[in-house]
Amino acid sequence: MSYTIINPATGEDMETVEHLSVEETDDAIERARVAQKSWAALAPVERAEALRAFARAVEGDIEHLAQLEVRNSGHPVGQARWEATHVRNVLDYYSAAPERMLGKQIPVAGGIDITFHEPLGVVGVITPWNFPMTIASWGFVPALAAGNAVVLKPAEWTPLTSLRLAELGMTAGLPDGLFQVLAGKGSVVGERFITNPDVRKIVFTGSTEVGKTVMRGAADQIKRVTLELGGKSANIVFADADVDKAAATAPYSVFENAGQDCCARSRILVQKSVLDEFMEKFESAVKNVVVGDPTKEATEVGPLVHAKHLESVSAYLDKADIAFRGSAPEGPGNWFAPTVALSRGLDDPCMTDEIFGPIVTVHAFEDEADAIEISNATEFGLSGSIWTRDVGRAIRVSRAVESGNLSVNSHSSVRYNTPFGGFKQSGLGRELGPDAPLHFTEEKNVFIPAD
Ligand code: NAD
Repeated sequence: MSYTIINPATGEDMETVEHLSVEETDDAIERARVAQKSWAALAPVERAEALRAFARAVEGDIEHLAQLEVRNSGHPVGQARWEATHVRNVLDYYSAAPERMLGKQIPVAGGIDITFHEPLGVVGVITPWNFPMTIASWGFVPALAAGNAVVLKPAEWTPLTSLRLAELGMTAGLPDGLFQVLAGKGSVVGERFITNPDVRKIVFTGSTEVGKTVMRGAADQIKRVTLELGGKSANIVFADADVDKAAATAPYSVFENAGQDCCARSRILVQKSVLDEFMEKFESAVKNVVVGDPTKEATEVGPLVHAKHLESVSAYLDKADIAFRGSAPEGPGNWFAPTVALSRGLDDPCMTDEIFGPIVTVHAFEDEADAIEISNATEFGLSGSIWTRDVGRAIRVSRAVESGNLSVNSHSSVRYNTPFGGFKQSGLGRELGPDAPLHFTEEKNVFIPAD
């Protein structure tokens, strides 16, 4: 079955992609199973060199990958270049891992005891549509580095850069079948990753709802899972903060990628005494956000990914108490102007739901305890920011907010060299950082007697 990809900025058909069947998925998993054996048997330095060659192939294709993402996902070209470069960086970073999969030598009586990190076999990576190539790389690169094969299913709307990455892996000389991108439906290819016993681990990034289905299915075979799910993160602005900077940067903490970001700070909590000052400065910052044609260098925010998603985000306009909006183009394309809503209370759908679009809700708080309580009044716990000039408060609030990734007086994005993942229903396990390859291994303990 073929599926038509639509350019979200123009509404025009781009190309068709073949969707795989269950049988084709099984064939691919079998090829991956075979390829993994010879990959794991290579000398560590050979696997390291293969990943470095893959990094160089991506490096040579950065502009092409970026342009593909602009057309498939509507990402502004500057952002898309950052994403392609990030994939190159992830490959370079983890190319050092095969030669550093260190075990332990543990003192025991009567001999020696050593541990090994054995690869799992075939790993299934399932990705969402919001950051197709970067999120793919967080799964497939450390998995390969640890000696596994990977089958990757991209989201239906945005498969093109992932398919290109598989081609680049082949060009760089990765063994046939080691890294395959299988375009298809979640209910077909994704489901088969869960039920096929040769897939030993699933790395799933997507909605909390589907993540629960993946976890339930994985339980049948005690299949390992890493889950990167939804978010409703808070950007907390205290009265003692640099309010100018907090207001000027807030649009980019939530409207980047048109708000289609699991780390979007989609709730802004502002201390009451500076609410008016913040809102005035925030309004002029929001009005200056450049929403438009993603092929233009100056564009900061592109369209929403798909007409169906535009419909789901737009439904919140009727539920929101809108304070002000930025601007967006009219005409063909999935355009939505950045929107700032005032909170109607903690049960307001704009305060509770991951809208996953350019809508942010502002809620006033009294004091530090109140800010922490409101920040944690959500099932999610992925990201967040804390604005204060009081170092002690920055430490206290960072420790008290139930979230995996926080930044103080900044809105840091994901770094490949630091761990990333969620508390509560935002996920399970961690990606990236120095330990990521270990999450694609089993620890084995071996005792050898001295006699
Ligand atoms: P989604 O859950 O609808 O789909 C994600 C992927 O799962 C897609 O590839 C889809 O085809 C597949 N899928 C769907 N049903 C499946 C099933 N039954 N079995 C196996 N696979 C199935 O999510 P989406 O709409 O593509 O992405 C948006 C969501 O992703 C948001 O909730 C966002 O917060 C989340 N996200 C989280 C992170 C993170 O790191 N925490 C990063 C990006 C996006």
